Amino acid sequence: MGAALIGVLAMQGAFAEHVRALEAVGARTRLVKTPEDLRDLDGLVLPGGESTTMTMLMERVGLLEPLRGAIAAGLPTLATCAGVIVLAREVIDGMAGQRGLGLLDISVRRNGYGRQVESFEAPVDVAGFNGKPFPGVFIRSPLVESSGSAEVIATHDGRAVAVRQGHILALCFHPELTGDRRLHEEFVRMAKASAPHLKVAHRQDYSGVVH
Ligand code: GLN
Repeated sequence: MGAALIGVLAMQGAFAEHVRALEAVGARTRLVKTPEDLRDLDGLVLPGGESTTMTMLMERVGLLEPLRGAIAAGLPTLATCAGVIVLAREVIDGMAGQRGLGLLDISVRRNGYGRQVESFEAPVDVAGFNGKPFPGVFIRSPLVESSGSAEVIATHDGRAVAVRQGHILALCFHPELTGDRRLHEEFVRMAKASAPHLKVAHRQDYSGVVH
């Protein structure tokens, strides 16, 4: 297989930074703005930004349900910050009516780190990376209240800040805003590893949706 093709949800938020990080580790990228853009992807990134706006814009262009279906069918997905809220089973302190897609078994409190410390940097040790810690950039991050069946792979102050659930890798911090590409490398590896079975599932599930 050649370079993995990773889609980056481009409704709003920090998508350009993910594109740069992914290309720096050798992936090809595609901005995802319509359901058609999901076709033949090996992986998908849900960036940081504003979860309510992102969800509303996806609904408006008819992308929300196809995206939910693609991730549910096994499309490897990297979510950062607002992206984590978009995927969550439960959103506490969301905007009126805000609900997660229910694909990631965690409960998150939106802007849960509070006003005083809404943005901060802290070193984060991620399981499986035994080298130096990651520079964890937290910007109005969601606070993980409970992590259900998702595997916690990093904590900060006793709270989960990175979880993995099968093909989903979810980070409350922003690796795309630092020069540390190890998590993007790991995600591209995940995407390559699951690509063959995914292409089949993807074609079956989306024949009616993607023209
Ligand atoms: N607070 C934002 C939200 O609710 C997330 C912030 C971020 O992505 N940096 O979506």
